[in-house]
Amino acid sequence: MTVTQERKLVTEIPGPRSVELLERVRRSVARGIGITLPVFVTDAGGGIVVDADGNQLIDLGSGIAVVNVGNAAPAVVAAVQEQVARFTHTCFMVTPYSGYLEVCEALARITPGDFEKRSVLLNSGAEAVENAVKIARSYTKRDAVVVFDHGYHGRTNLTMAMTAKNMPYKDGFGPFAPEVYRVPTSYPFRDGLSGPEAAARSVAMIEKYVGASNVACVVLEPIHGEGGFVVPAPGFLPAVAAWCAANGVVFVADEIQTGFGRTGDLFACSYEGVVPDLITLAKGIAGGLPLAAVTGRAEIMDAPHVGGLGGTYGGNPIACAAALAAIQTIESEDLPARARDIGNLMLPFLHDLATRHPVIADIRGRGAMLAIELTTNGQPDPATTTQIAKACHAEGLIVLTAGTYNNVLRFLPPLVTPPHLLREALGVIAKVFEAY
Ligand code: PMP
Repeated sequence: MTVTQERKLVTEIPGPRSVELLERVRRSVARGIGITLPVFVTDAGGGIVVDADGNQLIDLGSGIAVVNVGNAAPAVVAAVQEQVARFTHTCFMVTPYSGYLEVCEALARITPGDFEKRSVLLNSGAEAVENAVKIARSYTKRDAVVVFDHGYHGRTNLTMAMTAKNMPYKDGFGPFAPEVYRVPTSYPFRDGLSGPEAAARSVAMIEKYVGASNVACVVLEPIHGEGGFVVPAPGFLPAVAAWCAANGVVFVADEIQTGFGRTGDLFACSYEGVVPDLITLAKGIAGGLPLAAVTGRAEIMDAPHVGGLGGTYGGNPIACAAALAAIQTIESEDLPARARDIGNLMLPFLHDLATRHPVIADIRGRGAMLAIELTTNGQPDPATTTQIAKACHAEGLIVLTAGTYNNVLRFLPPLVTPPHLLREALGVIAKVFEAY
């Protein structure tokens, strides 16, 4: 089906069919799975999601930063169809296939750093982060993992320990993996520090409480995603990376949410010329198929013994075919440039909106990874944030919230979203704020 690139509401949101399905969800899906916007999707294409009642919603969420190339991108669909008809699975560790190899070659080519690289392919972002830690520990023969306030790295046991926020990710799910240490990040809106000042604060804490010689790796998102699209002050990332290099610590950039063109560069680290030792990748890598990777310096990646890494499905052939098509699309259609265009279109509008609505306290992000932070009397305002998000949903606009204080609205459209849809989405956001 070709999905027309227009917003269309034919029922209330959610409509009767979706409400009926939601009732069934309550009876058979575990309660722990939260649902942001309960419309049941039947089709999606480009920047539009179609629901079971025939409504067409503008997608400013990309399935949480996944469908950068657009939903059901034609090249991805064709590659998947061709591969699925040939073979669906062998397990690369049993009898390999070239798709896995070609994805690793592509990742070596497109990730930052002009040196020999290796990759391992996995199923999810959390699994990539877990493997990056395994590899860094194996290479350094050290234990400690350093992470940051407002960081998010997943929901497995080790990555829960690495994720900052308790509710909803960790509450009641401990005990957590040991040897994970958290230090402050750079959050210009809240700490007012320059990048080098914030880095010096982080480093001082690492040296005081952990000891540089015990640290296997520092794991940092170049822009914190779930933590609220927190963009560090200029100089923070380079200073943290330089400290790692000077202390034999593996610097891991978690680009699971920021990668594959989202921020206007292929990878967000490149904005400040930072070259990580290892990079964790997922989400945008394969246009919606489950795939993740760790890519990095050959000597670090090759530290684990033969058989020390792997898994049944990691680098599944269908997901690899999708990834090759997605990466090809990102490059041939210069989607990082499209992300910059999206930022250039949306940011002035959001700044203008903020002049009329003092609840909008900060506007930040880069490329097509944008957010507004809402406060009232200087305090985080999660109630208004939720209300605005719900009102957008009712108007047929998929927006997501984020932030340690649940007071951030984030906008991350597919990078192929046509400008007329973005303008319409901004019109809806303005209308919702006016009504509020
Ligand atoms: N790291 C980052 C930066 C993420 O944004 C996410 C997912 N939101 C993860 C790790 C975990 O990825 P997954 O949900 O695929 O396990």
